[in-house]
Amino acid sequence: MSSAHQYVYVFGSSRTEGSAAMKNLLGGKGANLAEMCRLGITVPSGFTISTEACTVFTEQGRDAALALIRDEVLQGVAFVEQEMGKRFGNADDPLLLSVRSGARASMPGMMDTILNLGLNDEAVEGLARKAGNERFAWDSYRRFVQMYGDVVMGLKPAKKEDHDPFEVVIDMVKAQRGVQLDTELDAADLKELVARFKALIRARIGRDFPTDPWDQLWGAIVAVFESWNNDRARVYRELNDIPQSWGTAVNVQAMVFGNLGDSSATGVAFTRDAGTGEDLFNGEFLVNAQGEDVVAGIRTPQQVSTLGSQRWARLAQVSEDERRARYPSLEELMPGLYAELLHAETTLENHFKDMQDLEFTIQEGKLWMLQTRNGKRTGAAMVRIAMEMLRQGMIDEATALQRVVPDRLNDLLHPVFDTHALREAMVIARGLPASPGAASGQIVFFADEAEDWAQRGLAVVLVRQETSPEDLRGMSVAKGILTARGGMTSHAAVVARGMGKCCVCGAGAVHVDMKARTMTIGDQVYAEGDWISLDGSTGEVYAGRLATQDAELSGDFGALMALADKHRRLEVRANADTPEEAVIARRFGATGIGLCRTEHMFFEGDRINAVREMILADDEAGRRKALAKLLPMQRGDFEGLFAAMTGLPVTIRLLDPPLHEFVPHDEAGQQVMAQQMGVSPGRIRMRVDELREANPMLGHRGCRLGITFPEITEMQARAVFEAALEARAKGAVVKAEIMVPLVGTVREFNAQAAVIRKVAAEVFAQRGESIDYLLGTMIETPRAALVADSIGRQAEFFSFGTNDLTQMTMGFSRDDAGSFLPDYLKRGLYEHDPFRSIDQKGVGALVEMAVAKGRSVRPDIEVGVCGEHGGDPASVAFFHRAGLDYVSCSPFRVPIARLAAAQAAIAG
Ligand code: PEP
Ligand code: MG
Repeated sequence: MSSAHQYVYVFGSSRTEGSAAMKNLLGGKGANLAEMCRLGITVPSGFTISTEACTVFTEQGRDAALALIRDEVLQGVAFVEQEMGKRFGNADDPLLLSVRSGARASMPGMMDTILNLGLNDEAVEGLARKAGNERFAWDSYRRFVQMYGDVVMGLKPAKKEDHDPFEVVIDMVKAQRGVQLDTELDAADLKELVARFKALIRARIGRDFPTDPWDQLWGAIVAVFESWNNDRARVYRELNDIPQSWGTAVNVQAMVFGNLGDSSATGVAFTRDAGTGEDLFNGEFLVNAQGEDVVAGIRTPQQVSTLGSQRWARLAQVSEDERRARYPSLEELMPGLYAELLHAETTLENHFKDMQDLEFTIQEGKLWMLQTRNGKRTGAAMVRIAMEMLRQGMIDEATALQRVVPDRLNDLLHPVFDTHALREAMVIARGLPASPGAASGQIVFFADEAEDWAQRGLAVVLVRQETSPEDLRGMSVAKGILTARGGMTSHAAVVARGMGKCCVCGAGAVHVDMKARTMTIGDQVYAEGDWISLDGSTGEVYAGRLATQDAELSGDFGALMALADKHRRLEVRANADTPEEAVIARRFGATGIGLCRTEHMFFEGDRINAVREMILADDEAGRRKALAKLLPMQRGDFEGLFAAMTGLPVTIRLLDPPLHEFVPHDEAGQQVMAQQMGVSPGRIRMRVDELREANPMLGHRGCRLGITFPEITEMQARAVFEAALEARAKGAVVKAEIMVPLVGTVREFNAQAAVIRKVAAEVFAQRGESIDYLLGTMIETPRAALVADSIGRQAEFFSFGTNDLTQMTMGFSRDDAGSFLPDYLKRGLYEHDPFRSIDQKGVGALVEMAVAKGRSVRPDIEVGVCGEHGGDPASVAFFHRAGLDYVSCSPFRVPIARLAAAQAAIAG
């Protein structure tokens, strides 16, 4: 060996130098291949060139790297020759190799694989003779020249919209021969293809296809190293936080063939069901085929197990006789090899203690394992596999919790279509899966009609070109929402997600005719009242009415949640404005309400009229008169919330949005309002104009409203205290927390606190009884965070409004960021949308500072967060580390936050 440092690690039956623990050095694929050898599983022998060699290649260039690894690669090939009993470059019985990349982290699509390396015009004849199969040999050669020409020599389409040049040649030869499928080409055709491919390469690249196997091998190794630095790979790493310095390993391995006749086969398998999580070995295979044929979908693959095969036949409506004749399982066809495969899968799952995704090939009656890795799975499977492995004693509690990706719980939390119903259903259109869940209803095209229909007890799906804020109430009563236009951040999508309501948006094939009240898809017309069904998790739209089933919150899901609660430190509350939402929040395990946005109640029924009357009033007396109408309604709302959340804290926030949000801006709306209020339209217009602000988000809103109009705060405080006493009288255990929004200075807080305390004293005196309550503030302006010590002396709790805190700290409004944020994200100027996942370095620093300042003056101050970030797993982890007491998020995200909080606690 010329170098003291080792760059090449062999694996095989006689010797294996790597192991699963060496992922950093050997990449994921190489490390697992070595580990399989260590477990005594039969793997085609090979060697892995380490990621360190790639680093040398990047830093010192090709010649330096090749000089360093040269001798070790020669020894590696000699090792494989010895193990496989064949010689590389031998013309009679050539050893063929595969060359693949394999980084530490999986980087899908970084580089294609090169198969059948070592073939040339002589070796192909030897292979044909040895295999007794000329077509097989020429097909292998054809595939090799095509892959090598593309991946290593760089023969790509001239323009990206052009066809693959090799495929163009194949199509020409097929046309000449008058055949449709590649499989119909015979040995002579394939031989012609090889010749044409080589001529094409010479013409386009200006070099001959290398005939010396060693030249081929060095070329392939260099191509893999270079692929680490191609644009696609660089961008992928930037987006996924993978350091550029890691480098890729190169795996060189003996080829085995599943296409050598009827005693050969190739397949993929999972140690458990990746869809449901059921502990059942399953997979697919094809006799006399190559790996890519299984996924290509040209032939119908067969099932590995007989049980799986029988299940498949029932679904595919294939009779048992036909199944056994045409689609027998591997278990039936090759029982001995199936038993071996079963042994391998059990060994691997027990060893890696996770569901494995396997690739295997059977060459003339001998089983070879080609790959094992942790298998991808659905949200439901994630939960079931984690909990079953915990019960089976394979993993501990912390591992089970870490196995589930919190966001994937989304799949389980919303209603889904009944699987039987789905089988018969017809997809009529596809759109974006904007908000998960399943919904069936009758088509309506107008939001107000959705309300009417829903009031009559009908299930409706609101279909629109796109939605706007006026559609809010119609959306809230619809079972689902379908729009023809708009993306994942369109109004419909955002609002529906907030409501936890199923939504498919941007279904381009849907043509909505509001006048005719029809929706046309292709030549099919759907009228108002027709039934359709939406799957908000897949974006599929179905004709007719499909049965749905509610989310299953017990079973493994319930057990996982209980486990999360055992491990987490953060409390999880919900943002909920109505008793109905509070009930959902409790069902999902919320331990309180962290934010009730009282203004949402102002839109209900005819309350908006009283609100508008208050806005229109000329003086305090007029405002008080209007507020008196609102008082009983707010009191009723709060009482409902306290009752629903008995025993748990309920945080009620004073009025927050600017008043212009409550008045109509269009002329028609203003006319209606004028009539209702009994004033002239001109007067309404004038008031609306007065309320107009250049930057409403930085305008007359939040506590500024309560400061200019203290009577609003008085009414709301009175409603809270009276409701609290009322609810307690009826048996509820009430824990009220009143919260002042948008505070920037302690004097603002004090001014509002004085009003609230005065009202409390009045109500308690009138009733002759009192109730404990907390009086706190939102921290959502940067200044509030900066002076949190002075505010903390007065406020009994802090709740971070990270939506406002983000927009004010970043200096862009959450309503306007859509015009440039996507561009920023694409260019990597921001790693993620700061309104979705908290900007830890900037906004997060303010949070940390405010927590420290608050606790420095009031050590037991309660601190939480109620911005959208409270339901984002990465943000939850940050809030855990920042020492917050709770996060509060929309009811449907509560389970996600519970799990994220547990994972954060485990991570420490
Ligand atoms: C916030 O700003 O984070 C918050 C919770 O309040 P809102 O979204 O209502 O402004
Ligand atoms: Mg806010």
